[in-house]
Amino acid sequence: CGIVGAVAQRNVLPTLVDGLKRLEYRGYDSCGVVAYQDRKLVRARSVERVAALQADVAALGLSGYTGIAHTRWATHGAPITTNAHPHFSPSDDNARIALSHNGIIENCDELRVELEQHGYVFASQTDSETIVHLIDHLYDGDLFEAVRQAAGRLCGSYAIAVMCRDEPHRIVGAREGMPLVVGLGDGENFLASDAIALSNETDRIVYLEDGDVVDIQLHRHWVVDRDGHRAERAVHIVAAHS
Ligand code: GLU
Repeated sequence: CGIVGAVAQRNVLPTLVDGLKRLEYRGYDSCGVVAYQDRKLVRARSVERVAALQADVAALGLSGYTGIAHTRWATHGAPITTNAHPHFSPSDDNARIALSHNGIIENCDELRVELEQHGYVFASQTDSETIVHLIDHLYDGDLFEAVRQAAGRLCGSYAIAVMCRDEPHRIVGAREGMPLVVGLGDGENFLASDAIALSNETDRIVYLEDGDVVDIQLHRHWVVDRDGHRAERAVHIVAAHS
């Protein structure tokens, strides 16, 4: 299972799909991708191989400068399309927030009850969908801040990538107990569960630590630790794979 995300000034769909293929060795039962296209969040999801998702992306004409992708290893909810990530909030075609998650949210039942009381309608049986509605509920114009607050409410393990329709040149990541790295490009930046997913794009990698939340934009990345303090994480040059 794995995560890939990209913010660039070119179509990132090839990068996202290539990244998922490089993560296929980890195993998965379904996959998906979302991009910012025509002022909306547009996604494709598949219970087949990444190659089938790639064909769906081409058939849909899906493209965009910002996107996130996922391969899923189901823990909560069967491996069916409606449970595949990315998940949306609101959970319909007018989504404001999209999320990819690897890991397990242990307090998902309690969060689900709370979010349903706030009027959120769930479209899946996953634990992950609670995270995306929680972020939407906390959202007040700043995705980074909403993810930071949401992370404080989560029990369990996660690596997440999040994007917002209203802040299209930004993705936000967070990790706790699951790997997540930032890849640095020139005027473009990336997020992935493993540097190997980005090996076609960059060899400059920042390894995040547990509790970190990262803001990724075209020309900068910004990490804070679990206490909300700015964290300097070293840039590593990794050996090129192709
Ligand atoms: N727990 C989540 C789900 O079942 C994420 C699984 C994963 O790590 O891919 O959808």
